Amino acid sequence: MKLFNSMTRQKEEFVPVSPGEVKIYSCGPTVYNFFHIGNARPFIVFDVLRRYFEYSGYKVTFVQNFTDVDDKVINKANEEGVPFEVIADRYIKEYFTDAKGLGIREATVHPKATENIDAIIEIVQTLVDKGYAYPVEGDVYYRARKFEGYGKLSKQPLEDLEAGARIGVDERKEDPMDFALWKAAKPGEPSWDSPWGKGRPGWHIECSAMANRYLGKTIDIHSGGVDLTFPHHENEIAQSEAANGCPFANYWMHNAFLNIDNHKMSKSAGNFFTVRDAAGVYGYEPIRFFMLSAHYRSPINYSRESLEQASAALTRMYSAKERILFLVENGADGESSESEKNTLSALDALEEKFRAAMDDDLNTADAIAVLFEMIRAINSELDGTPTRAFAKAAADKFFALTEVLGLVQSEQEDDLSKEVEELIAARQAARKEKNFAEADRIRDLLRDMGIVLEDTPQGVKWKKA
Ligand code: AMP
Ligand code: ZN
Repeated sequence: MKLFNSMTRQKEEFVPVSPGEVKIYSCGPTVYNFFHIGNARPFIVFDVLRRYFEYSGYKVTFVQNFTDVDDKVINKANEEGVPFEVIADRYIKEYFTDAKGLGIREATVHPKATENIDAIIEIVQTLVDKGYAYPVEGDVYYRARKFEGYGKLSKQPLEDLEAGARIGVDERKEDPMDFALWKAAKPGEPSWDSPWGKGRPGWHIECSAMANRYLGKTIDIHSGGVDLTFPHHENEIAQSEAANGCPFANYWMHNAFLNIDNHKMSKSAGNFFTVRDAAGVYGYEPIRFFMLSAHYRSPINYSRESLEQASAALTRMYSAKERILFLVENGADGESSESEKNTLSALDALEEKFRAAMDDDLNTADAIAVLFEMIRAINSELDGTPTRAFAKAAADKFFALTEVLGLVQSEQEDDLSKEVEELIAARQAARKEKNFAEADRIRDLLRDMGIVLEDTPQGVKWKKA
């Protein structure tokens, strides 16, 4: 598999630190609000990365943190007059609600900054001991210039970084480029005991500490949105590599931004949408489909049209799913025909094509196109009198791949299918008993649910009107 490594700016063959295992650290949300539609992009994309590695036979450890203490969380808590934990806990819960809706699986570990203060203090102390950091009045700063290779990820010359850092500089820093590892307690803010007095961690250090604790000193892949390249990831590298004396991450992956109607999303411009808002209009799964319909390194444009297109394409995929599942139950007896065997070979070739797309730096857009090719191939058989054997083999192949992308997984659809199928069975039973009043009642009930019935040689089929 080839991945584009932001560090080398090249697609590189993926070689794990330990054969058969992948360790991924993906920067997670700051939990002070519902997450927005832009945040959803890295969560979905790197969930697919993890699923694809698992499909390919790797054991994956996937860590995604919660930044549960920082200025934004504290400000929100002060606005509401509640402790910061109330805000953090509330939005962690809301994260899981939206993530589940979007088909984003729970990470192996979701560490919180506040549960790792000991590990954070330990790495800050190591950096002080090694001369990479210095305390000033209860704060601790990192000497950016001392780390050889500072700027190597964002490819910014030191002069540019210096120029940027000179704005609004804190006089107590030795150098404007230095950044905070530990912040001295301010009145009314949460704080923890440390060798430098009461305080709280800076943002960058939490990821270095948690990656170290949950994944080890050198991890395979570190990921996040492209905005995190500088300063966040640059600083994580400086911290981890100076503390551990070895490379921090072998591959850096960054998703491009999501824009709204071709504009940067911003609260002040009035084009800011949470996932919760968007899901209320389109449902969750079309959002996931939309995110995967472009390559993760291309900017993507969120608009009503693009979501409606995603929705329509997803509906086609669900119709195919229902049709296949129906024939798994109701197809003809016996072995697959010659033509079916040929189609199964064609599906094998399409699975290869799917893998080739995913192996090419996670090209989910092409992978989705392959799924539609599979649907066309399967349908060419389903139009005749397909066997159950074929339907089952085709279903296994098709659903293994939809699962990699986390598509057509909606439980709601499954619940609906179950309910509809139970009603259809009850109607058939009523007909058999010549209880036509009951059969008609069930037919009307299904009609009111928007379900259209169709009698076929294989039995009653249904679809949503
Ligand atoms: P935050 O909670 O702001 O730290 O962001 C969580 C994740 O969302 C990070 O990986 C960000 O890089 C990413 N992100 C934020 N805004 C966008 C956007 N508009 N498009 C894509 N990714 C974004
Ligand atoms: Zn991070």
